[in-house]
Amino acid sequence: MALLEVNDISVRFGGIVALSDVTFDIDEGSICGLIGPNGAGKTTMFNVISRIYDPTSGVISFNGLDLVGTSANDDTTADVPPHKISEIGIFRTFQNLALWDRMSVIENVMAGAHVRSKQNIFTAMLNIGRRKEENELRQEAFEILHNLDLAHVAFQQCAGLPYGTLKRIELARAMMGHPKLLMLDEPATGLTHSEVGELSDVIQKIRTDYDLTILLVEHHMGLVMSISEKVVVLDFGKKIAQGLPSEVQDDPAVIEAYLGAPAS
Ligand code: ATP
Repeated sequence: MALLEVNDISVRFGGIVALSDVTFDIDEGSICGLIGPNGAGKTTMFNVISRIYDPTSGVISFNGLDLVGTSANDDTTADVPPHKISEIGIFRTFQNLALWDRMSVIENVMAGAHVRSKQNIFTAMLNIGRRKEENELRQEAFEILHNLDLAHVAFQQCAGLPYGTLKRIELARAMMGHPKLLMLDEPATGLTHSEVGELSDVIQKIRTDYDLTILLVEHHMGLVMSISEKVVVLDFGKKIAQGLPSEVQDDPAVIEAYLGAPAS
């Protein structure tokens, strides 16, 4: 069953058509790779699903909820306002790490729970339940770090840790929000060959352990093709192919998009 359905999404920036009638869906529990040459529209699609951009037209449904409104550009018809997107279980990582250098790893991970904090302004002011909640969050954060083989760095500052470790900490933090759909924006950028291998293992582990559905935008073909069940290919804002990694790799339109048209 599809958790996310993207239907005929178009995005125009002035005269530039960044996305043109793009349709695809992602089955619950699966990993979907979204690939394409530079400027193909991958980041724009990410930004539409995470509600940073409004589409010019089209519909997105997530877990039965209408994400962008039935008439595009009209938030009043959408079931979910942009600032509530993480509350319904959609999380994303960014190309640049967004961790606090001077805080410990476990504090960074605990911060990922802010979207589901039970604290309201009154209980926070009176400090009611705060200690209990903090202890519970600390325990949960430690369990996640342990599960991702990061317990040994839990009480170190993030500053100075290897980049590959920081990338895995970022995923640990996302798990604190209890995501249903996790969108990863070029997670392999800047990683060494062995770190990409570790990242691949971690992505598959969190998918299984935390019942995730994952949308992966990535230029690292080895990573995409090895862990995705389905790959969607964009080029100049249009979907040019979708299917199993092996099908997409052999698709002439995909080969042409990446290598350029054959010389005549
Ligand atoms: P890359 O792999 O290089 O990150 P991409 O596939 O993510 O590329 P997008 O960043 O989505 O591609 O860009 C798609 C098109 O839309 C490009 O032509 C880009 O210049 C344009 N574009 C993206 N964002 C904006 C914006 N805010 N304003 C105007 N044009 C934009």
